Amino acid sequence: MNVDLHSHSTVSDGWLTPEALVRRAHANGVDLMALTDHDELGGIDAAAAEAAVCGIGFVPGVEVSVSFVGETIHIVGLGVDRTEPGLVAGLQSVRAGREARAQRMSEALEKVGIVGAFEGARALAGNPAMVGRAHFARFLVASGLMPDVRTVFDRYLARGKPGFVPHEWASLEDAVGWIRGAGGVAVVAHPARYRLSGADMSRLFERFVAAGGEAVEVVSGAHSEAEMRRFATVARQRGLLASQASDFHGEQESPVDIGRCNPLPPDLVPVWSRFV
Ligand code: AMP
Ligand code: MN
Ligand code: MN
Ligand code: MN
Repeated sequence: MNVDLHSHSTVSDGWLTPEALVRRAHANGVDLMALTDHDELGGIDAAAAEAAVCGIGFVPGVEVSVSFVGETIHIVGLGVDRTEPGLVAGLQSVRAGREARAQRMSEALEKVGIVGAFEGARALAGNPAMVGRAHFARFLVASGLMPDVRTVFDRYLARGKPGFVPHEWASLEDAVGWIRGAGGVAVVAHPARYRLSGADMSRLFERFVAAGGEAVEVVSGAHSEAEMRRFATVARQRGLLASQASDFHGEQESPVDIGRCNPLPPDLVPVWSRFV
């Protein structure tokens, strides 16, 4: 079965509408997919309807932004009820800080000579409530100042770079609680991407499990083979369900297309055993 449980649409920072994303998944042979826009549930109905038309399985999801020991962590929720009031209100509170953050990012970029970034980024965002760093990066590429999105992050937008503005997202416990309260399974997204010490990574998983988290992305478009093996071991040792996910944003930006994930090691328990 071709499974891909993490992807983005224009409702957050993906390049494709929810419908076009589902059609691409279908064309790529996906049997079961999840839409997991950042801090947003607004694409779920359109994606679910298109998945029904295409005849593929669909899991309603979300990727929640979390602050943990000064690093931003992403917690994916799979199988959430997009109408559940606690989740809806929680995500609303997470999104609420984004506009002010974007304005501060724009001011920070102005100090290094880049003008008009707020307006430029917002014009590229499909959802005005969800202006993020990817839109700033695309603005800098579109204006010819930078060659590609990766270079913009490395030079301006990663933590510690001139356009980076620290931001307080949800707490780990709140994010897992909202997901579980909405009937979903909480998943640590792309763990190898976090700049955490070994001790902090252990604390992340301890607090995640204590809060009711159940799964980890072992296969991710953001993981190397070695990183995949590292988190396969974490899944075994902590008894976590394993997820498999491209984290597809668009063919321009994503190393792995939707539906083109490597398989999970066969001894792991797939998180989609909950959804099939
Ligand atoms: P934000 O939630 O506004 O902080 O934006 C986070 C998003 O920025 C991620 O989901 C990715 O889409 C994108 N991103 C983060 N780091 C990088 C990077 N190094 N290269 C390309 N895109 C990145
Ligand atoms: Mn993104
Ligand atoms: Mn992420
Ligand atoms: Mn993602």
